[in-house]
Amino acid sequence: MGDGADLTAGAERQLGERIVRELYRDPDYIDDAVLAEYVQGIWQPLLAAARVRGELPPELDERFAWEILLGRDRTVNAFALPGGYLGLHLGLIGVVTSRDELASVLAHELSHVTQRHISRLMAQQNRQTPWMLGAMVLGALAASKNPELANAVMVGGQAVAAQSRLNFSRDMEREADRIGYGLMAQAGFESRGFVSMFEKLQQASRLNDNGSFPYLRSHPLTTERIADMQARQPLGGLPAARSEPLMEHAMVAARARVLSNPGVDLLRAWVAEPDATGFSALGAPRRAGVLYAAALASAQLRDFARAGAWARQLTDVTAGDTAGARQARLLAAEIALADGDDTRAAGLLGPLRSSPLPGRPELLLLARIATRGGQSAPAVDLLQTWLAGHPRDAAAWQALATACEAQNQPLRAIRAAGEAQMAHVDYAGAVDRFKAARAFSDKRDSHPNDDIEAAIIDTRLRQAESLLREQALER
Ligand SMILES: [Zn+2]
Repeated sequence: MGDGADLTAGAERQLGERIVRELYRDPDYIDDAVLAEYVQGIWQPLLAAARVRGELPPELDERFAWEILLGRDRTVNAFALPGGYLGLHLGLIGVVTSRDELASVLAHELSHVTQRHISRLMAQQNRQTPWMLGAMVLGALAASKNPELANAVMVGGQAVAAQSRLNFSRDMEREADRIGYGLMAQAGFESRGFVSMFEKLQQASRLNDNGSFPYLRSHPLTTERIADMQARQPLGGLPAARSEPLMEHAMVAARARVLSNPGVDLLRAWVAEPDATGFSALGAPRRAGVLYAAALASAQLRDFARAGAWARQLTDVTAGDTAGARQARLLAAEIALADGDDTRAAGLLGPLRSSPLPGRPELLLLARIATRGGQSAPAVDLLQTWLAGHPRDAAAWQALATACEAQNQPLRAIRAAGEAQMAHVDYAGAVDRFKAARAFSDKRDSHPNDDIEAAIIDTRLRQAESLLREQALER
């Protein structure tokens, strides 16, 4: 440190890409449109706050990915990766009781990135090649997910030693708390979330830590850390903690719990929960959370009659709460779709309209319905519009590929599949798809629109090849 050997932003981003390329392929990686949108609704205001407060210099802003990868994992964990990538386990979303608590964790992790803590840690490993650094981080992640198997999953034994060295220092933790706390308030969150998150983690750590709280191992809660955060609370006492979570939060947290591989026994328990005594005495947000979990868990157990019944009760409970009612409608459509009732699903979501552009969860569901029904032309247009503003949305590219195929537009379909690979930083996969698209367009009498598409494909192929060469050089 201090010897000018910190990783440059560009090198750190490349290291991050090397790591997330593996994570995107991990069976636990999940791009759930509802959860991702909810997390983005917290993440984007925090990023904006970091810009306003001068914590995010334009160069870093531009170079880094600022992307969150969700992991279908029950453990409570969040971690910053090199290059502006963050990992967030569904277990953590499922355990927090407010947006503010989730914001406090994201603000803390964001501050590790903006303060270049990772680059400092990585620079301490200066004799390692980027390939080894990437393997070490992946090994440490695998170990944190599987504490009892840690030794078996290590990458060449190196990561065991590395894991301790990947932990941030106490000074770095203090700095991430302090700066993260400032971002929270600036972004409009209740800073009480920081304290209640600490309290929640502390409680959990008093119960025996059976490995389900890896976040606690990387973030030991010293009394000093807690006292420091409490001291930052405004004088005159804390605003009273809300006894009820907001309705949408209760529903989204329920979704995270159901999607985090809980196992059949828990799913069954959730299905029965609205029948339990005491349910009707709960406040509306909690009832909405319980019903959401019951409906989604029923659908996962393929009991669609029960899923539909819980979803209807959920519609009643959420009436009058705009965000809650929308989540209830999305869930009912998802259940109808899983049950094969596309007409009902489409009816719940409303018509495909370009203005206002539907939200991402609606858009992806509607595109699926339209494609299955052979009416994908409007979906193709809307997906294109969406992608113009979100060019790294792999799931939207994949939906576009499927929709174009159904429209008998194979060239556009192959290119969209290549773009999906690019978005997941799989440059070899992208080169493969773009080459396939070029071979396809060479071989047939081209359609006037295909000329434009073919020119784009040539450009994208060259870009993908050059990125692939850069990646090969860093080894
Ligand atoms: Zn930390």
